Amino acid sequence: MKKPFLTLAQAKEIAKTYPTPFHIYDERGIRANARALKAAFAWNPGFKEYFAVKATPTPGILKLLREEGCGVDCSSLTELMMAEKCGFSGNEIMFSSNETPASEFALAAKLGAYINLDDLTHVDFLRETLGYVPETVCCRFNPGGMFTLGESKEGFQVMDNPGQAKYGMTRPQLAQAFTRLRELGAKQFGIHAFLASNTISNEYYPALARLLFETAADVAEETGCPVAFINLSGGVGVPYRPDQSANDIAAIGAGVRRAYEEILVPAGMGDVAIFTELGRFMLAPFGHLVTTAVHEKHIYKEYIGVDACAANLMRPAIYGAYHHITVLGKEDAPRDHVYDVVGSLCENSDKFAIDRALPKIDAGDTLVIHDTGAHGFSMGYNYNGKLRSAELLLREDGSVELMRRAETPEDYFATLVW
Ligand SMILES: *Cc1c(COP(=O)(O)O)cnc(C)c1O
Repeated sequence: MKKPFLTLAQAKEIAKTYPTPFHIYDERGIRANARALKAAFAWNPGFKEYFAVKATPTPGILKLLREEGCGVDCSSLTELMMAEKCGFSGNEIMFSSNETPASEFALAAKLGAYINLDDLTHVDFLRETLGYVPETVCCRFNPGGMFTLGESKEGFQVMDNPGQAKYGMTRPQLAQAFTRLRELGAKQFGIHAFLASNTISNEYYPALARLLFETAADVAEETGCPVAFINLSGGVGVPYRPDQSANDIAAIGAGVRRAYEEILVPAGMGDVAIFTELGRFMLAPFGHLVTTAVHEKHIYKEYIGVDACAANLMRPAIYGAYHHITVLGKEDAPRDHVYDVVGSLCENSDKFAIDRALPKIDAGDTLVIHDTGAHGFSMGYNYNGKLRSAELLLREDGSVELMRRAETPEDYFATLVW
C-alpha cells in the first residue's frame, strides 16, 4: 500500500498559505534515499551520482542533493545556468545533451563540466566551438538492437529499443571518437549509455554495467585511450503501481560490483570511477501533487474534477502513466467507488486516473497524487492558459518551505507583445 508522507491535517494547514494545487517534496525521504545510493556504491572510491536536473529543475532540491554529495547532469543552457547558480562547478557537473547548440558546449566548458558527446560529428564541432577539446571527454554509446532482460512467461522484465533511439554512437564510432579526441588533445575518457527507462529490476544496472565494462576494456585496448569513468546514466525506476515492488539499491550496487570485479579489475582497469545520472529514482517517490476535489459529475461515467490538471502533471495525459491516488483522511475507507479523476483542460486526455477504485470523494476532499517528484512539475506547461503551481519542501522538522512560487497571470503575459 502506498502511504502519503503528508496527513490531511498537514495538507489543510499548508493550503492556508499555499492553496492547492501544489507540488510538495519530502526532504527526509530524499536524503535517506540519496544516502542509500551512496552506500550501495561506496565500494567504488570515485563513485558519484549526477542528478538529472530535467527531472526536477528546482534549486531547493539541487542544493539539498549537493549536500548529500551529488553532482548534476544538465542537458541545456538554462539547466547549466541553474547548476552554476546553485554552486555546482567543474567535476560536479555532467553535460549530457544531444543536438547540442554551440552556446551550450561553450558554457559547459566554461564551468569545467564533463562533456558527454552524443555523436562522432560532435568531436570536431566541439573543437571548432571551443578552439580546443577538454582534457577529459565522455562519449555516449548506443549498442543498437533490442535491449532485453529477464525473460519469463509474462514476457521480458526489461525491454527497450536502443536501435530506434536517436542517442549515442555505434561501437566503431566510439573508437573513432576516442582516437580523434586524443589527436585533438584529450587525455582521459568516459563512456555513457542509457538503454532502458524506468526499469523495475535489480538486474538492469548490472547488465548495463557488464556491457559497458566489456566495451570499455575493448575500446581501451583497441585505441590505447585510458578510460577514467563509466556513466551508467538513468533508468533505475520506481514502483508507480502499488502492486510493484521497489528496486533494492544495495542489491543493484552489489550487482554492478560483481561485474566490475569480473571484467574491469582483470583488465587492469580497477581504478575506473562509476557515475550515475539518476533522476526518477532520486526524486519521484518523494514528491506529491496535492489537489482538491472541486466537482462531481455523473454522465456515462462518474467523474471527479480536481483543481490540478495535465499542465501540472503531464505523464498520464501523454503516455497513460499510472499515478496512485490517496484521498487524505480516507486512507482506510473502502474503495467502493469507481471514478475518472480529471483536470480542467479542454483535452479528454486530461485524466489523472481512469476507472480507478477509490473511496467516495466529496467536493473539498484533498487528494494526493503519488510519485510526482520527478518528471512531474518539470514537464508542466501553460496550455489553456493554465498556470504552473508552487513547489514546496517539507522539511525534516515538519516545517514547510517555499521553493518556487505559483505562476501568476502576469507571468503568463510577460512575454507577450500587445
Ligand atoms: C532523462 C535522463 C536521465 C535520467 O533518467 P531517469 O529515468 O529519470 O533516471 C539521465 N541521463 C540522461 C542523459 C537523460 O536524458
